[in-house]
Amino acid sequence: MVTLSDQFYNSIFEDACSQVRRSSQYVQTESDIKSVVQTLLNKRLTTADPLNVQNVSLLLHLVRNFRDNEIRSMVLESSRILRKRLFGNKVSVMVPVEMSSFCSSNCRFCGWRKDNAEMIRLKLAKDALIKEIKFLAEMGFAHFELSSGDDLNLLRFELPELIASVKKTAQEIIPSARVSICVTPFSEVHYSHLARCGLDTVFTWQETYDRDTYYAHITSGPKAVGLTDDLSLDTHGDGYLFRMKSQENAIRAGLQAGLGVMLGISPHLEADILSSVIHGNALISRYGDSIEPLIIGMPIWNPITTPKTDNLSKNSSIRLEESDFELISAIYLLGFPDRHAWVFPNCRVSKIEQMKSILTAGCFTSTMVRLGPGAYLAELTNADIPSLYTKIAKEKAPLNKQSIMDGEQFTHTFDFHENYLSMFAEGRLEIVPDRHFLLQN
Ligand code: SF4
Repeated sequence: MVTLSDQFYNSIFEDACSQVRRSSQYVQTESDIKSVVQTLLNKRLTTADPLNVQNVSLLLHLVRNFRDNEIRSMVLESSRILRKRLFGNKVSVMVPVEMSSFCSSNCRFCGWRKDNAEMIRLKLAKDALIKEIKFLAEMGFAHFELSSGDDLNLLRFELPELIASVKKTAQEIIPSARVSICVTPFSEVHYSHLARCGLDTVFTWQETYDRDTYYAHITSGPKAVGLTDDLSLDTHGDGYLFRMKSQENAIRAGLQAGLGVMLGISPHLEADILSSVIHGNALISRYGDSIEPLIIGMPIWNPITTPKTDNLSKNSSIRLEESDFELISAIYLLGFPDRHAWVFPNCRVSKIEQMKSILTAGCFTSTMVRLGPGAYLAELTNADIPSLYTKIAKEKAPLNKQSIMDGEQFTHTFDFHENYLSMFAEGRLEIVPDRHFLLQN
């Protein structure tokens, strides 16, 4: 099958901006707006098809700009009805496992960017990674996301074997276990190789579809220029375009894909959200029944763990209210065809907001997230902590549990898994392996 064209990818954001401009010219009385919203929502609930792009744009515009509680409640309630119909009371839980905080890219919003001299750098040893996987699988996790900074040696030479070992270890404990990666994008050929090693899913957050904002924030490294087929830096490449093609490359390799924008990075929030909807629906139209549901991530630009080098206050163009998170989750669910999208509320908001978004739209989420390499193990072990790592840099004091926690990629909500389980039980949610929601099960 022919891939989506570069022209399509390069036009996504401009198309989204045009839609947003058209929606902003939509002026009606308040009572008219309510009836328009109700008509859109009623129509969505009587079909398995998504709201079309114009209607997603209009809905986004109305809920964000009119801030009318009744309109917001109508959207949330429709999404809850749909979520219940599609996923019942079930939810699946993933856990990110960081392999390395070394990174050769510079993203201004990230604590692990190459030029952040305040950040400790750690690369976890394979044995330690496998111990973490065993520990987490024994707690009941069935989806393991292997993440890292752009540590090119690890990605080139170690990742295939790590994926295979993690999958084997996890499936010995949880036979339905699945493995994903959230690292730099690869070509279709390389994703095919990783699929043969046991990989199931690829998460690539675009950060923003706005090319200018992308390059204002992502200034150097693989994320700025992309990689060649042999995983060398594509010195004159277009990292923005390469990243946008990651999901399609993964899908063509037989993998499930995740996409999403970082909320708060672009001044054009509505156009960015709409761009993800346009992108995802184009993939679903092109690859139809042969692809697994897209996982729609909702990263938010949060403060980093080294306040002296945090660019958030200087550069953030837009601050979201926490309650926007639930609304955006609802619009994502309504904007994709039934069963073809898993909305993924995460720990970048409070537990309460995460839970509200799960009940409104999400069937895939995370619980006790730690974002430092070895951070789950550091809590358990009395062993010599430095022995967990094969590479350590910028260590300010003898490495201990606190320095590992201080080396997380960004700040986020943390609570223990059992407390999330209690919260889910109170909300009458039943945890199932994410395999349960696959289409080709
Ligand atoms: S977002 Fe990823 S690629 Fe960018 S600096 Fe952070 S770890 Fe590196």
